[in-house]
Amino acid sequence: MKVTILGSGNSTGVPSIGCKCEVCQSTNPKNKRSRVSAFIEERGCNILIDSSPDLREQALKNNITRVDALLYTHAHADHANGIDDMRSFNYLSNKSIPAYGNAHTINTLCARFSYIFTPKTGGFFYGASLNGQIVPETPVGKIEIADNTVTYFQQNHAKINTLGYRIGGFAYSTDVKALPEESFEALRGVEVWVVDCLRRAETFSHSHLAQSLQWIARVQPRLAILTHMDHDFDYDRLSNKLPAGVVPAYDGMIVEL
Ligand SMILES: [Zn+2]
Ligand SMILES: [Zn+2]
Ligand SMILES: [Zn+2]
Repeated sequence: MKVTILGSGNSTGVPSIGCKCEVCQSTNPKNKRSRVSAFIEERGCNILIDSSPDLREQALKNNITRVDALLYTHAHADHANGIDDMRSFNYLSNKSIPAYGNAHTINTLCARFSYIFTPKTGGFFYGASLNGQIVPETPVGKIEIADNTVTYFQQNHAKINTLGYRIGGFAYSTDVKALPEESFEALRGVEVWVVDCLRRAETFSHSHLAQSLQWIARVQPRLAILTHMDHDFDYDRLSNKLPAGVVPAYDGMIVEL
């Protein structure tokens, strides 16, 4: 399995518009964070997690030309608003693409982008075309995508629930403030875990550094990757103080497992 971190930043991205802080002004490419997203290649299947507002640039930079399925964590703008750029993949494959999420996510996206959720079978794709797939609201569940079994699990993100996803030894948990016990069960034995870590200080809807590290100590993946980071984190300074087996994400990071 090959996983590419397409974006590792918070909702504004880093640098944040107009910000003069040291991290936003930094020339280290690892301090340039586009909005969170990841791309998984496994068993001949290309799976995209979220359609970030930076999707077009992420696809161009990482040579992504085919998406077989889209997994939505939730419908917040920083995870969804690149949805129109899915049209290029529709155009190249000449078919609608299945998009999975919980009922709230898919219904919210259908309301905001009704013109996209009209599955088509062939023809010319003027606009994006997604086939919305609502997953049951169970604590943990499975989705079959081609030869892959994807496990989803519930995550609390303040007012809404998001979905975490696991494929084999890889799991992805962004935009999470609290994890139910069943979700920790679903994470048992995971090899590589990408986990939300907005900043050092505690916030109401995201995990912060101390909490993410506590979860990682409990789940004990071989490698933990912190994501959804804002300009509070300088890549090098954060890297140097993290425990062994924990690293900050950066855009374009590739993990093979
Ligand atoms: Zn977010
Ligand atoms: Zn800044
Ligand atoms: Zn969110």
